[in-house]
Amino acid sequence: MKAIRLHQPGGTEALRFEEIATPAPESGHALVRIEAAGVNFIDVYQRSGAYKLALPLTLGQEAAGVVEAVGADVSVVKPGDRVAYVGVLGAYAEYAVVPAEQLVPIPAELPARLAAAVMLQGMTAHYLACDTYPLKPGDVALIHAAAGGVGALLTQIAKRRGARVIGTVSTEDKAMLARERGADDVILYTETDFEAVVKQLTEGKGVDVVYDSVGKATFEKSLNCLKPRGYMVLFGQSSGAVPPFDPQILNAKGSLFLTRPSLRHYTATREDLLRRAGELFDWMRAGKLHVRIDQVFALAQAAQAHHYLESRQSKGKLLLIP
Ligand code: NDP
Repeated sequence: MKAIRLHQPGGTEALRFEEIATPAPESGHALVRIEAAGVNFIDVYQRSGAYKLALPLTLGQEAAGVVEAVGADVSVVKPGDRVAYVGVLGAYAEYAVVPAEQLVPIPAELPARLAAAVMLQGMTAHYLACDTYPLKPGDVALIHAAAGGVGALLTQIAKRRGARVIGTVSTEDKAMLARERGADDVILYTETDFEAVVKQLTEGKGVDVVYDSVGKATFEKSLNCLKPRGYMVLFGQSSGAVPPFDPQILNAKGSLFLTRPSLRHYTATREDLLRRAGELFDWMRAGKLHVRIDQVFALAQAAQAHHYLESRQSKGKLLLIP
């Protein structure tokens, strides 16, 4: 089968389109024929070596497709089932072996591409808004990169939960998109001081929660945007890692809460995984959650997809099609 392999960490040139043996499913696993694989920032961090893994490997950890075969002791799926998954390496390929317990059935009416598009960014938006800081009517949330993959989904879920959303974006095009997704106010944080604007918009009170996926460039000012006892939810680092941090700062700025959550801890049980994915699929089918597939690339074009994501051009999901 064809796969995108990584032998050494590096730039996009480190991604190699190669022929390798199709794997066989061991006990408890299923072989999935991949119809669409999601491209995510974590793939970039793994490619560049920012997140270290044993090499060589097949990149990618989000996909949707059809179960081709199952190993011993698998009861939750069978050959022919349409499934999606996240969190298992090897998705940039024609086939992948996945622990059966990680597979989520795709409802009949939902295209595989949409299912693949929502597993990582959608479930992240879901846990952030529903569990990490469970938004309630009247809350004010600051969402950075509000036209991005997670950002646009989080904005929609936050609005469904009754919160007021202030979004930040880098361009007018992205501002339009964030407004279409429901953001009440949008700040061009590359042109204006978002901290000052947030203070104006909240009459000096600040926001209840900041969902910050940008990291280094926004972290400090994000803390300044919070109300006393507000929640700083740092869940990504698109602009770089936040440097070491003195917890005393949380006291000085108003007994703030800081968390650095990760999807795997919010989908740790099969029950959690099925509930979260199921709720997203239901919203999508009911037209209550709009998932934007921005660009679709052939599997062999993984390098172009990474370049597109890293160069800040993306406005939604990027997919690779084997
Ligand atoms: P996005 O679609 O949001 O893309 C990243 C966006 O970040 C860009 O479009 C850009 O938006 C903004 N950005 C700001 N500064 C930079 C920069 N220097 N370089 C590139 N982009 C920049 O990506 P995702 O929604 O997929 O992921 C966002 C972050 O969240 C990533 O760090 C990812 O790893 C993390 N993440 C964490 C998860 C978790 O569970 N903890 C799960 C999913 C994602 P703009 O142009 O508007 O500024």
